[in-house]
Amino acid sequence: MPDTKPEAEVEGKRKPVSYDLIHHDSPAGRLMYAMLNDLVEEHHEEITNARIALAWALTWKPDVDGHAKLGQCKKASDLDRELHPYDFVVLLNAEWWQDGRVVDAQRRALLDHELCHATVKLDKDGEPARDAKDRVIYRLRKHDIEEFSEIVARHGCYKRDLELFASALRRAPKQSSLIEREPGPQPDGEPAQERPY
Ligand SMILES: [Zn+2]
Repeated sequence: MPDTKPEAEVEGKRKPVSYDLIHHDSPAGRLMYAMLNDLVEEHHEEITNARIALAWALTWKPDVDGHAKLGQCKKASDLDRELHPYDFVVLLNAEWWQDGRVVDAQRRALLDHELCHATVKLDKDGEPARDAKDRVIYRLRKHDIEEFSEIVARHGCYKRDLELFASALRRAPKQSSLIEREPGPQPDGEPAQERPY
């Protein structure tokens, strides 16, 4: 039996796509890969030769605590490396990135954050480790700190990594205006807390 449904109706039933690869030669891609290359050159020398793809995450929603994921760095598995020419993919929350209230300094900070997760596995001599196909082995690095703000509010910098973080905050450029804009309001009007992941 022929499908006689109007095209719009069929379109409406299609499953949303979760990810969309950002191509180097697209208008957004040109700017974003330029930012990425600039950050790698400036702060991430060890992954200079890593092939990094950028992709939009199109369906991320805030979790039950209102935390909205802004980005995620994923390392290609051995199988992924057989299937496509990338070592890492950085997923970016499309809604946040394209929000008119988000400024480039914030986008740059997010991308820099995700690149901090991407690093090289070292062998016992401190040299980059290689696999049986002579490819550099990469790994994902964890955050410096994982803590609740209310614990720091109650107890202060009670351990060394927090002390180091507080010290980094004191050295950071003054940029409070970047977050006064509170990008990413949720449908109920409450701005979501943002987490780069
Ligand atoms: Zn992270």
